[in-house]
Amino acid sequence: MLGAISALYGVPIEKLLTGTLTEEQPEGNMKKANYFICPHCGGLTVSTGSASVSCCGRTLEAMTAKKAAPEEKLHAEVIENDWFLTSDHPMEKDNYISFVAFAAGDNIYLYKQYPEWDLQLRVPKRGHGILLWYSTTKGLFYMYL
Ligand SMILES: [Zn+2]
Repeated sequence: MLGAISALYGVPIEKLLTGTLTEEQPEGNMKKANYFICPHCGGLTVSTGSASVSCCGRTLEAMTAKKAAPEEKLHAEVIENDWFLTSDHPMEKDNYISFVAFAAGDNIYLYKQYPEWDLQLRVPKRGHGILLWYSTTKGLFYMYL
């Protein structure tokens, strides 16, 4: 029965059960993208609209990014036409930055990071944007570039 209602109205069954159906927001700009991180497998999903995301059998909530305190910020310097980013954050197996994203204009640049490797990356310097990174122990942070 629920399956039939779900198909009839184009509404996922979970939404029918939780009653949280809301007006879908128009696709936002990239600086307002949503980041979903699965606590089980670490998988990352990026959405530019309001999406229902599930991974490993669980529904995920979009992460809320915290504004980085001065000592938590990534170090950014300009090299040629890029931002060169480094960090003092540990890069150990159980405590590291697992991804960095730079959202500017119509683009999101997404960089997977790995433990045991220093965080060092070059991001194209294209106007101003928001830089986000995910610490596996402290959560999602942002700063403006
Ligand atoms: Zn997962």
